[in-house]
Amino acid sequence: MGDKRYPACARCPTKTCENRGGKAGEPPSLEKAPAFCPMKLMPDVYGAAMAEYDKPEVKEFARLASVQEFQCYERLPDGLRTRLPRIEELIQFARKCGYKRLGIAHCGGLAHEAGLLTEVLEKNGFEVVSVQCKTGAVPKERIGIKVDEKIAGPETWETMCNPIVQAMIINRSKVDMAIMLGLCIGHDTLFIKYCDVPLTVFAVKDRVLGHNPLAALYAGETYYKRLRGKIE
Ligand code: SF4
Repeated sequence: MGDKRYPACARCPTKTCENRGGKAGEPPSLEKAPAFCPMKLMPDVYGAAMAEYDKPEVKEFARLASVQEFQCYERLPDGLRTRLPRIEELIQFARKCGYKRLGIAHCGGLAHEAGLLTEVLEKNGFEVVSVQCKTGAVPKERIGIKVDEKIAGPETWETMCNPIVQAMIINRSKVDMAIMLGLCIGHDTLFIKYCDVPLTVFAVKDRVLGHNPLAALYAGETYYKRLRGKIE
């Protein structure tokens, strides 16, 4: 089971916290939880987190999110069945929260998808602000990119992705919620750092796998066996 000194839920064989099959009102015993379980390593944070949930606006947001989660399933005679793709979840959740104005921060490579998403959201009554990553038309040289590091070639103009300005525009547009659509790794990190409004992710970028990075893990026993080794 290992006795790592840091939380490692991804390696947990017991999932004691899920308490599957347990009765309502009867919490699980931590005896079976591994030594690296955060419930054992950092017991104090749970109280601190619950104190946050006790703030009325946080509690209500968390409640609505869990109601939305519940509504994504239907209970049929043969068991639970999933029923909503993320886009419908997004619409339902935004309505639950009373949001009227949504802000899409998208990659230039997903401009078509941003248009489709805008159309769907507008048809469902939302006002939709959108900002693509290349806004500002700042050349990549401005952040120290060398000519031989430009994708389109050394002689060609190449606009940098500008997630900080995307976040600033989204913040200034007074949207109720920001929606990230296909920003690159690292650019997404910056966007999250500078975005001041509630933020959700509609899709992450994976240029090879149709923006579904999990596909490489799912095919890890076959086409992506190389993931078992060290990636260069
Ligand atoms: S919280 Fe503890 S019991 Fe739950 S998955 Fe993590 S290590 Fe396992």
